[in-house]
Amino acid sequence: MKISELLKSNKLMLSFEVFPPKTETAFESVKNATEEIAKLLPSFMSVTYGAGGGTSRYTLDIAKNIKERYGVPSIAHLTCVSSTRETVREKICEIKAAGIQNIMALRGDIPTGLENADRSGWDYKHAIDLIRELKETDPDFCIGGACYPEIHPESLNQKEDILYLKEKVDAGCEFLTTQMFFDNNLLYNFLYKIREAGITVPIIPGIMPITNANQVERAVKLSGSFVPQRFKSLVDKFGSDPYAMKQAGIAYATDQIIDLYANGITNVHVYSMNKPDVAMKIQSNLSDILGK
Ligand code: FAD
Repeated sequence: MKISELLKSNKLMLSFEVFPPKTETAFESVKNATEEIAKLLPSFMSVTYGAGGGTSRYTLDIAKNIKERYGVPSIAHLTCVSSTRETVREKICEIKAAGIQNIMALRGDIPTGLENADRSGWDYKHAIDLIRELKETDPDFCIGGACYPEIHPESLNQKEDILYLKEKVDAGCEFLTTQMFFDNNLLYNFLYKIREAGITVPIIPGIMPITNANQVERAVKLSGSFVPQRFKSLVDKFGSDPYAMKQAGIAYATDQIIDLYANGITNVHVYSMNKPDVAMKIQSNLSDILGK
């Protein structure tokens, strides 16, 4: 099932993100965790892709398993910046052969040490290059892209970031999933600006339930997200008690989702980080709203 079709619903729908194992030894445990999440029957599940391509085989294995065994639509992430055209074409063929219709087309992070390299000879410079290639290969792929309510860290300003985002959508992105954010007002401001810029595709807010104090630092370093005082107080109070911190982090994420739905957002993507208990708790907190 195409994600673009699912996004037409007016009811609140949750989707979950999982990541593949880095090694073969970890495969079974990660597969089991993703299956526990699939049993919750989310609207869809996304499976990330290692920027260097190291976990690419597992991305597809996990996405295929979720779809075939549990009937949950899946979306395989694919990055391009550190790959050759030949490798990316191979991956696209594998995705197609696996019967996956949905692809999250991403640039990926620039490999460490190459941030200032001359990129003129690279096969892919931006996600838009991959989106165009996917559309040429098979116009029937349903393509998603990434967007950044607090702007991408490499962008000079939001205006420029939104201009490039519009180009990505015009090239064939049918929906956009956001980077995590901890203050919904940032999302509402972003929505206002992108709609004004003529971007009309569905936006799926990405919510990261923070369940331990160390995760805050890692997540913020990776995403550059703003951490509101309300969230900081919660980490100050509960950070040293793992159980209390987990409960508080899940409550905060639940609260963000309720506020999003109350303000007209019907699809929310939860960065569930291969944690079935967290996915389960969020879903049960919202059971009456979700009708599950
Ligand atoms: P782009 O859309 O190419 O944008 C990157 C930067 O280039 C931005 O500053 C943008 O404004 C600018 N830009 C875009 N187009 C142009 C252009 N034509 N000319 C000049 N500048 C341009 N990483 C992984 O490795 N694996 C994953 O599975 C993964 N999943 C993700 C899922 C989501 C929802 C999000 C938000 C991010 C994910 N990432 C993943 C991280 C992502 O790869 C990085 O954030 C990366 O730095 C940018 O990827 P992008 O696709 O947004 O790039």
